[in-house]
Amino acid sequence: MSFARLIGNDRNKQILQRLLRNGRVSATLIFAGPDGVGKRQFALTFAKAANCQKAPDHSFATDSCDECPTCRRIDEGTYGDVTTIQPDGQFIKIAQTRALAEEVVYRPREGRQRFFIINEADRLREEAANSLLKTLEEPPPTSTLILLTSRPNSLLQTIRSRSQRLNFAPLTIAEMETFLTQHYPRPVADTALLARVTGGRIGQATAFDLSDYRQERRTLIELLELMAAGQNRVRLLKAAEYIGKKEREEFEKELDLMTSLLRDVFLLAGGGSPTEIVNVDVTDRLQQLAEKIGLAKSIRWSEKLNEVRRSLRVNINRQIAMEAALLGLAEGKA
Ligand SMILES: [Zn+2]
Repeated sequence: MSFARLIGNDRNKQILQRLLRNGRVSATLIFAGPDGVGKRQFALTFAKAANCQKAPDHSFATDSCDECPTCRRIDEGTYGDVTTIQPDGQFIKIAQTRALAEEVVYRPREGRQRFFIINEADRLREEAANSLLKTLEEPPPTSTLILLTSRPNSLLQTIRSRSQRLNFAPLTIAEMETFLTQHYPRPVADTALLARVTGGRIGQATAFDLSDYRQERRTLIELLELMAAGQNRVRLLKAAEYIGKKEREEFEKELDLMTSLLRDVFLLAGGGSPTEIVNVDVTDRLQQLAEKIGLAKSIRWSEKLNEVRRSLRVNINRQIAMEAALLGLAEGKA
């Protein structure tokens, strides 16, 4: 995707396009920001623009055309001058960084500028990083290094001090809706929900299964309604069993989803601006729930879920924890 079509993180776009315009693409850059906000996409677009065959003579293009064979091959991951380095196991190994340091001095094989994109650069440890320091400080004129990280604070100081850092942020809800409407058209209600539920992270939105989400959500809304009614112990136990039997990761997702629903209920009960709710497509039902549960309970229930989440760290039985929480809350004992 070209810079012109990418939405959000405009300042970073300007910085990268300025580097291209001034012919100063040889650099070591850190792209820092949460997963799924477009760091990798920006790195690829930068690499495409620097190598695009539609560039004017004697200068770089300031954007990718996305049509020439070079742009296409970079998108496909088959271009010889764009290399991605991943952690091998838990860390990026010293053998990988040594190979990189040797490779980086060679001239481009087919294009104008070589790009080395290091994923999860915070997994570079001291020893491996040391073999790279000279390269990071002054990459050869035909090489560019881009270090991607969602944990910039874990990056070694020796790396940070030798690189220029660009911070990436999730898109705003409005930006996200525009992006989704342009590139992944779907019914308006779906776009609105997707933009909110993925918190402005494009990487998540493209792989998100809305129908799965809605199905799980329906179950949890029913559960909240059951709890609000404060009766039917048997069905509550069944619900606790259903959630408690899930594998840990899935179980945590259920807790997250329930917490997000309770946050919406909290907002609708008068705890904040209803324009900030996530589950916009079921506002009416959540509004009814908000009237039954009320502000104080919505807070208490969220706190209880946080307790369950914390207790997971000591490996408690999920089903028992869930039973205790749900029954306690429904009966007003918690
Ligand atoms: Zn091109």
